[in-house]
This record gives sequence, C-alpha cells and structure tokens, in this order.
Amino acid sequence: MKIALIGNPNCGKTTLFNRLTGSTAHVGNWPGVTVEKREGVYKTKSRAAEKVEIVDLPGVYSLSPYTPEEVVSRNFMIDGQPDLIINIVDATNLERNLYLTTQVLEADVPVLVALNMTDVVERDGDVIDAGKLESELGVPVVPISALKGAGVDKMMERALSAPRERSGVTVLGKALSDKLDVALEFYKSEGVKSPLFHAVKLLENDETELARAGAKEVAQKIGAGEDTEAAVVDERYKYIVAKLAVARTRGKKEKFSRSDKIDRVLTHRIWALPIFAVILFAVFHVTFAEDFLYIGAWASLGGGLPAVSELGLNEGLQTFVGIFYDGAVFSPGVILFNMFDTLFSTIQDAIGGAIGAQWLSGLVADGVLGGLFAVLGFLPQILMLFMWFSVLEDTGYMARIAFVLDRIFRRFGLSGRSFMPMIMGFGCSVPAMINTRTLSDENERVATIRVIPFFSCGAKLPILTAIAGGISQYFGVGNAEFITYGMYLLGVCVAVVSVLLMRHTTMRGSIPPFIMELPAYRRPRFKSLMLHLWDKAKHFIKKAFTVIFVSTVVIWLLSHIDFAWQYLPDEKMNESILASIGKLVQPLFTPLGFGSQIGEYGWVFAVAALTGLIAKENVIATFGTLGACLIALGANVGGATGDMLLGDEEGITSAVAMITATGISAPALIAFIAFNMLTVPCFAACATAKAELKKGTFRMTLLFWIVTSYTVSAAVYTVGAWWWTLFIWLAAVAAAVTIITLFNKGKIKLPRRKVKNDGGETK
Ligand code: GDP
Repeated sequence: MKIALIGNPNCGKTTLFNRLTGSTAHVGNWPGVTVEKREGVYKTKSRAAEKVEIVDLPGVYSLSPYTPEEVVSRNFMIDGQPDLIINIVDATNLERNLYLTTQVLEADVPVLVALNMTDVVERDGDVIDAGKLESELGVPVVPISALKGAGVDKMMERALSAPRERSGVTVLGKALSDKLDVALEFYKSEGVKSPLFHAVKLLENDETELARAGAKEVAQKIGAGEDTEAAVVDERYKYIVAKLAVARTRGKKEKFSRSDKIDRVLTHRIWALPIFAVILFAVFHVTFAEDFLYIGAWASLGGGLPAVSELGLNEGLQTFVGIFYDGAVFSPGVILFNMFDTLFSTIQDAIGGAIGAQWLSGLVADGVLGGLFAVLGFLPQILMLFMWFSVLEDTGYMARIAFVLDRIFRRFGLSGRSFMPMIMGFGCSVPAMINTRTLSDENERVATIRVIPFFSCGAKLPILTAIAGGISQYFGVGNAEFITYGMYLLGVCVAVVSVLLMRHTTMRGSIPPFIMELPAYRRPRFKSLMLHLWDKAKHFIKKAFTVIFVSTVVIWLLSHIDFAWQYLPDEKMNESILASIGKLVQPLFTPLGFGSQIGEYGWVFAVAALTGLIAKENVIATFGTLGACLIALGANVGGATGDMLLGDEEGITSAVAMITATGISAPALIAFIAFNMLTVPCFAACATAKAELKKGTFRMTLLFWIVTSYTVSAAVYTVGAWWWTLFIWLAAVAAAVTIITLFNKGKIKLPRRKVKNDGGETK
C-alpha cells in the first residue's frame, strides 16, 4: 500500500513523516528536479500483513503548476497511483490550509484529512469539530498532534481501513457548473485519470491543461480565462468560510496576536516602504558612517568639531582616540575597522622593519601583508552588514518586505520572491543565485541571476570604500560615505533597468501569484546568529589565506621581475612583466577613463580589474600590494606630498597612492568602481551561474555582464568628465526604449528563424 502525505509548507508534514517511518526513511530527489523526495516504510506495532510505503510530497499551497514543488505533488497525486492521500492541515491556520484540501478532493483518489497541531488549538482555547468537517467533506477527518504523537495511531487505523476507491468531488457551486460540465465531458472523452480535477484546472486557466491537444478550443468555447480563474478561487474561499470554518469555535483568547499588531504597522499600505528605507539606511549608517551621531550638514552649520590632530594629544593617545573620533564620532562599524587597521599597520611596519634583505621585506611587508591587510581590514564591516541582514531575516521582517515589495516588483516584471536572492546578493552572489530556485518562471529566474552581481557583494565592498575614501581624501571632494551609498544605489538602478529591459525583450514571461508564509515575528537567536557569522568569517578568512594570498604573491613577483627574470626594485616596476601585461590590455579601458590616458603607472588599474575576475577582493589586494611599493618609492611618486600618502587606513592609503602615481581623475575612479561592480563576477559566482543556467543562456549572461559594465562605466566617466555628454546618453537610451516599444507593438519585425519541432513540421 502506498500513502502520500500532502500539505502546505510548515504544516508539520516532516514531523509526521518521521514519526510514521522512523529510521526507514531515506531522502533523494524527484527525478529531473531539485525538489527533495522523502520515502519510508510505516512501522506498525501490530505486524500488518501489508507493507505500507509512505511518500512525503513537497509542501505546496496549491496544485497549480507554478513551482516545481507543485508540479511534483500534482503529478504524483494524479498519476503516481497512491492508495491514499493524507492531507495534513495546520488547524491553527484552517482557512489557508483547507484551500489546498478543496483541490485535493477533486482528484479521484481516497483522501484522509489529518487536522494537525491540535495541541496548539487546545492551548489557545479553540475547539474544532472534526465530525462536522468530516460530514461536510465526505472523507475521514482525524485530529492529531504530529509533535506530541496524539491521535497518530488512530489516524493510521482509519487510513488502513479506508476504502481504496473514491471519485473526486468539487466545492464549486452552480455559477460555474455549466462551464465545468463541458470541460468534464472533454476530459472524460479523452479518457484521462481524474477528469474532474483536470476540468477544474482548465477553468483555473492552468498552463499545463491548456497545453493538451484540443483543450484550448474547449477553453475558448466556455470562456475559460483569468475571469473564471478568479471565480474559482473566490468560490473555494467562500465555501471554506461558509461551510468549513464554522466547525471552529474561538476561545476567549484575544483575536489578534502580537505579530498581527506589529504587521499592521510594518506592512502598512503606505508606511511599509518608508519604514523599510529608514531601516536600510540605519543598517548602512551604523556600519559605515564616519559621522555617526550627527549628519555632516548639521555639523558644518555649527562650525564642526576639532579634528583629532587639533586636540593637542601625545602621539599614542592621538592614535587611540583616532580610532573612535576624528571631527565626528565614528559608527560602530568604522570603529571596528579602525581597530583592525591600526593593528595591521603596526604588524606590517614591525615585520617590514625586522627583515633585512630588501627584496624579502618588499615581498613580505608590501606584497603579502599589504595585499592581505587591505582586504582583511574590511572583515569587521562585512560581518556587521551581514549580521544586520541575518537579524532582519531571523526576525521574520525580510519575508514581510518581500510581500510588500511584490506589488512594486510586478511593475518591473518580477515577483516578490526575487527580492530574497537580490538582498542575499549584498552578501554573496553564490548562495543568492542558488536561492533563485524558488522562482517558478524560468525567464524571471534567468533575469534575476543576471542582475544579482549588481547587488554589490561583501567582496566588492572594499573596492567601494577604499576608492571612495581615496577620492574624498585626495580630491577633497564629496563625502566618502555618500559615494559608497551612491555606488550601491547605482548597482540597484542598473539592476532595475536591466530587468525591465530583459522582461520586455528576451526574457518575457508571466509572474505567478505571490503566496508566501509569513512566519510569526520572533527574537533572533544569538547562537544561530553567531554560527552564521562564524561561517561567513571562516569563508572570508580562508579565501584571504588561499586565493588572495597566492594572488598577492604572484602580483608582487610579476611586478618585480622583468622578462629576463631579473629582480627589479620598486622604482623599476614599470619595466616588469606585470606592467607589460597591464599595458597590453590598458587601451581597452580608455573609453572608461582608466586606460591609456592616465600616467605611467596607469596599467595598475587594468591589472586590478583583471585580478578581480578571480576574486573581487583582489582588486584592493592588488592596490595594497602595488600601492605599498609606490608608497615605498615616496618622492618618486609624481608630486605626492607626504600628507597624501599618510592616509590612516590601509586600503584607502593604497588607493591614494595609486591616484597620486597615475594622476587619474575622479570620474575615472568612479567609472572604475562601477566597472568592477557590474562586470563579470568572480570565478565562484560564474561557476554557480553556469551550473544554474543552460549553456547558451550562460554565454549570453557573460556577454550581458561585459556589455552592461562597459556601457555604464563609459557613461559614468564621460558624463563625469564632460557633463554635456549626458544628453547624448539620454538620447541613446530614448532611442533604445523607442525601438523596443515599437518592436513589442509589432511595428518592427525581425525575420523569423525557422524552428524544427519534434513533430518534424516547420514553424
Ligand atoms: P513541514 O514544513 O510541513 O515539513 O513542517 P515541519 O514538520 O517541519 O513542522 C513545522 C513546525 O511545526 C516544526 O517546528 C514542528 O516542530 C512544528 N509542529 C509540527 N507538528 C506539530 C504539532 O502537532 N504541534 C505543535 N505544537 N507543533 C508542531
């Protein structure tokens, strides 16, 4: 005998499955999809004559074919020939869970409804009349508690003695019965299993049904479409409220839980988004702000506070105070950064001074430590940002935001579900890309994977912060924090525009309705938070001491050896192998401002961009390595004053050294950030994208990244350098939009490619 468990996510299916099957369970995948499949054998106390197999179907809210989970559950129920379906219903969420039940009942299979979580229902003082439900639904209804085990034996008794045959019934009323009858006739004449189930799905405008030969004509005849779909949904809920939900009597407990009350504020129609914006700003402010306690404008009104150097402290005390304050109190994130940075520079100086041989001290202090510390210095801020996101997720807030944003995302052709992977992209593209598996529309998934790298990941953060710091320190313009936010925003804007473009051209598709579990709010658990952070830190440190370590050594060696394998001192870096390679690719970047037009050390930017393809941390590590050498040159660096080279932060110092040595302009620097942020991501992310996408799609994705980054940073550079080019770019955008609009309206036609399909006919 084969029994399948079906139910909404979180209804307690796994708990029940484990209780029923114990150690016999094994886990695999459903063929062809990444959906988990659990199977086991029912262990009875009385030795039953028959072996009872239990299959745990994936958790679903409905049986539409929108997600792989839904397809798997639906196919198994209709064609997998189960002897019985146990539909587990979370009794604390009766209405929503019974929505699935009304669909399950339409199939021609025996069904038993298990009312789970009855312990919680009792605790809340509610009463559910299972007998009433049973007579209304016409199938056995058994109250259980999968967690405590209550009622489970009785449920299995009834399951094993239930009849093995049953015809489907529907809860749809008279309003739709004429249409339904026609559809039913069609499916009966087709001789399919569970004709009623299919007929109702046809009314629900179901893609899979419409794909069946002849079904489209039937659908047209009865006018099945979005209207009938809405009508079916409506009837189901009406039925549930009128006939089923009345089986429950509410206890005296208050009607709205604390979560409901919080939700009334946080998911408010109007206030939800402003609140989210404030929270996001707070997260970034606490992590990156150099003027934590007041904003710059206010300070300048009051004339500002004295810088650390103006306080008349002795050297040691000044360094110490400088960690926390310099004209403004730093945010916790910046304070942590400063602590690490002070520690690192002390170590670097001590080691550099202790080694006698010039080349060895260069390799160790500049090459390895310069590169490593430039990257590791950012670890505290990366971890802090990651921690805030974890907190927001653990409390249940992120799920709400996905729900709130769904309305807006729809306008861009995305569903609220794609919000999670995008936000995860701020941490790391790899898990974010894997997370897109929850998206059911394949084209939406491709579009989302493509823009995930635009959500600047933790490894790109050092590029942003160091160069932004360099710009504000060297040119004395702009607020570094402001530039950093701006670049994050640029990434998000490019993502939005790209998605819009893709969803209107190559990646069209429909967006399924958004149904998502909104978990109750809870306090994040300290332990799981720390485990998360430790995991992240481990990953980052491991990367620093493997990939980045090796890269810095290679970079340093290549920049101190010429083609005759001769060691070159710092001042001869321009003759090195690395310089030759850099100079070779340098012209490619001329339209972006960091190509041939910059001074004699200009090739370092080309090299940094290339090393970023291995790991994005390498961009700043390369700066650290080469910058340290440039700093060692001191006076030789064109026109640099001692002051400029004495930036107080490792990454920023090297950025300043690079700016000084090359004479690169501020717009070119911003274009450089934009390029690195938007271009082909690191190896790991590319490998993930490759695994998640079809071959041809992946190649197009690589091309998309290259073209987007190149175009956007060229725009950034030219507009920054010559403001009037803005009009040229705007005109180009307008032209592109017009062409796409005309094309979509059918006014422009491309010659069709001939496609051969399986039937051999040519379309
Ligand atoms: P699934 O997503 O349907 O597989 O649900 P799980 O089996 O993972 O259960 C979701 C949560 O509900 C878990 O925290 C379970 O411990 C809890 N749970 C499951 N059944 C019961 C029950 O009968 N009573 C109570 N109080 N909690 C339950």
